[in-house]
Amino acid sequence: MAEKMKVLFCSSEVAPYAKTGGLADVAGSLPVALKEIGIDIRIVMPKYKCVNIEGDRDLLQGKVWVYFVDNKEYFHRDYLYSTPEGDYSDNLDRFVYYCKSVLEISKREGFSPDIIHCNDWQTALIPVYIKSIYSQDEFFKNTRTIFTIHNIAYQGLFPSEEWEKTSLPGELFSIQGLEYYGKINLMKGAILFSDYITTVSPTYSKEIQTPEYGFGMEGILKGRSDRLAGIINGIDYSVWNPAEDKEIPQNYDIKTIDKKVINKQYLQTEYEMEIGRDIPLIGAIGRLTDQKGWDLIAEVIDEICQLDLQLIILGTGEKKYHQLMEEIATKYPRNTSINLKFDPILAKKIYAGCDLFLMPSKFEPCGLGQLISYRYGTLPIARQIGGLADTIIDLTQNPKNGTGFLFREYSGRALVEAITRAINFYRNRKGWRNVMKKVMKLDYSWKNSARQYLHLYKEIKNLPTALNVR
Ligand code: ADP
Repeated sequence: MAEKMKVLFCSSEVAPYAKTGGLADVAGSLPVALKEIGIDIRIVMPKYKCVNIEGDRDLLQGKVWVYFVDNKEYFHRDYLYSTPEGDYSDNLDRFVYYCKSVLEISKREGFSPDIIHCNDWQTALIPVYIKSIYSQDEFFKNTRTIFTIHNIAYQGLFPSEEWEKTSLPGELFSIQGLEYYGKINLMKGAILFSDYITTVSPTYSKEIQTPEYGFGMEGILKGRSDRLAGIINGIDYSVWNPAEDKEIPQNYDIKTIDKKVINKQYLQTEYEMEIGRDIPLIGAIGRLTDQKGWDLIAEVIDEICQLDLQLIILGTGEKKYHQLMEEIATKYPRNTSINLKFDPILAKKIYAGCDLFLMPSKFEPCGLGQLISYRYGTLPIARQIGGLADTIIDLTQNPKNGTGFLFREYSGRALVEAITRAINFYRNRKGWRNVMKKVMKLDYSWKNSARQYLHLYKEIKNLPTALNVR
């Protein structure tokens, strides 16, 4: 029997141990799906303060070993990367330490990987180390690297004075290397030196090759377009499951879909909105950053609230958005419920209890909210970009196959227009019920995407390696 493919999966956050966003969901479920289709996969992540595990390893979902990089000084902190005041000032030290530890743990465990699968800037030095410091190391002789971009807006930028901390040769701080407008850019290093690059949706993989969405990386990504592909994320169907979810007030499935409304009444009651099964309830969950389109919501909140609907928001992030949201809460206490915190249980109740889920993102690499919403029979209203464009079909344009409501232009006007269309559609209760059933039947579990990764791993294994640095 052929030996199993060995994959070392590197991520700075893995659910349920530590999570700030979608990356953790992916890292906590894709490896499990890969294990189930026969890959010998292990994960390495930092041991933050919030990681409640004795020792230096744990079995994720009883299936995949997770190794923890333990360094009290670097990781035993209240947040992962930044406090509300800003980024930790020693983030380069922290993630250099993490990246080096990944390679050392791999050696310590005698786990010589066919593929090291890296994710986002925190892991970006690993492919660079493999091609430089470790290029002569027999242990990694047959190792290929793949770098997945979950969000190109965060590249890991540091002042040039910190270069020494990377332990990389000086010549790599150049335009052909990690230098970017006088700064160190970790993601640039990974894009240049990985054997393959992926993003989390096909549309985003094309968008990031353009100035509008590339955040300065479009040129070098174009240069590597023969080694760049998009694979859509899945979600963990055992975690997100309205039939068995213990966190929601009322379980339901396609056959008992009428019970979903009990979750809506719960939200209306608990969160002090008017109680009524026919008032459309819209949810929005996400990091309060520029990316997610909160500015659009704030801009047209008056028009939105005139539409006889309710809005429940859950999010945490930048101060300016906290303020904007608080203003909305004060102005529209009966129409809205604003929850400025990170709360996975409330998130589930929102996915289950709402009729619609709002994602007016400026850009969206994949987006998980729309996929989770489908699972709970909640229809998305979203901008037609990135992974949202790949996973949502507009109901107005394609009533037969439609799954949600899309708008293209990044403007308050376009957002209000899409919400209005959704609300009008909602009045047709029978049609609505059918679409709810349709989206609950969609399959965005990891099964398909894990197969695509497996296929890619096999292909990369046989590719000539990208250039060694020295
Ligand atoms: P991103 O990775 O850009 O943050 P995604 O849509 O890919 O966005 O994933 C976001 C994930 O984080 C979803 O599972 C969402 O439910 C969850 N999430 C975001 N903000 C919060 C919050 N304040 N409380 C609970 N869950 C949240």
